[in-house]
Amino acid sequence: MSIDTVKLTVKLNDGSVMPALTIGTPWTEEEFEKLPGVLQAAIDNGFRSIDTAWYYGSEPTIGKFLKDLFAKGAVKREDLFITTKVWPSLWDRAELSINKSLQDLGLDYVDLALQHWPVCYKGTDSNGLPKNPRDSNGVLQFDENGDFVTTYKQLLELKARGLVKSVGVSNFTQAHLKRAVDETGVVPSVLQLELHPKIPSLELVKYAESLGVKVAAFSPLGSTGAPLLKEPVVLELSTKYSAQPANVVYAYHLLRGRIVVTRTSNPKRIPTLKTIPSLSEEDIGKLDEIGLKDPKRFIQDDWGVGLGFPHWKDKYSWEE
Ligand code: NDP
Repeated sequence: MSIDTVKLTVKLNDGSVMPALTIGTPWTEEEFEKLPGVLQAAIDNGFRSIDTAWYYGSEPTIGKFLKDLFAKGAVKREDLFITTKVWPSLWDRAELSINKSLQDLGLDYVDLALQHWPVCYKGTDSNGLPKNPRDSNGVLQFDENGDFVTTYKQLLELKARGLVKSVGVSNFTQAHLKRAVDETGVVPSVLQLELHPKIPSLELVKYAESLGVKVAAFSPLGSTGAPLLKEPVVLELSTKYSAQPANVVYAYHLLRGRIVVTRTSNPKRIPTLKTIPSLSEEDIGKLDEIGLKDPKRFIQDDWGVGLGFPHWKDKYSWEE
């Protein structure tokens, strides 16, 4: 039996409804030219949720695509679910960040705004540039007087003003979630984090879900090069369920009520996203076992060092 992903939705804790399978967007210039073709394929195949961020630089391209899409008349703004994020270089200027995203996207609201990281930088200009301020030795300039909860509080204010419909966070540990909730009394609607069978993060997911946060898995295939698709257990389940390996990995999340944010530069892959196999509980457990035995994160940048994520290596002493 297979399950139609286009119809899968999750209900957020503020009542909003989000499509569960979300199309991620790239952060490198060379991939931007392929993006309209990918997004058109996504729309043609029924997908309505797009994930972007001020940091990626993809928002002007998406804005132009949306303008053309709305002009054709078949899809309206309210049919789409658009997520953006506020980067640490604008940690105390969430309004500026969201306004820039809205301007580039050509929208007057986003459906979901995420705090990209619980991190504060100093030494940026009035536009939040450079995106990652570094000293002459390449060391990131963190603002030791900055408080990451400020960004979350500012996003909640923007929600009250209607610029963003829902507020969530990304790359938060349990401790970050706890502080954000304790200090505001408001539970984020979504926690977006690197999540796949190599890093199942079962405790963090359980904690977030116990608060009423919906969990969104980014880099579900292990990011560029899709390393998860080479895992023997994934390949075994792919054969067992006559499903593509990627769809086994998407099912691992979607069948548990999570959101999946995945990316492709190839429009031909989009129709393959439309169904997932109905994995048994036992087989989902087998996928967890991959990372419980031999965990690995694929997204590790120096702004995440010291935040408290397990299996996070210090980039400067990385030994592969
Ligand atoms: P994914 O795990 O989605 O992997 C994308 C890679 O997998 C691409 O190289 C793509 O190549 C390849 N791929 C996709 N489908 C298949 C397939 N069926 N078979 C083989 N290869 C495939 O990772 P991302 O890191 O891109 O994460 C997805 C999205 O999550 C991002 O676009 C972004 O929106 C979000 N994100 C959020 C972060 C955060 O901090 N909040 C951090 C990172 C990502 P190809 O182009 O050839 O299809």
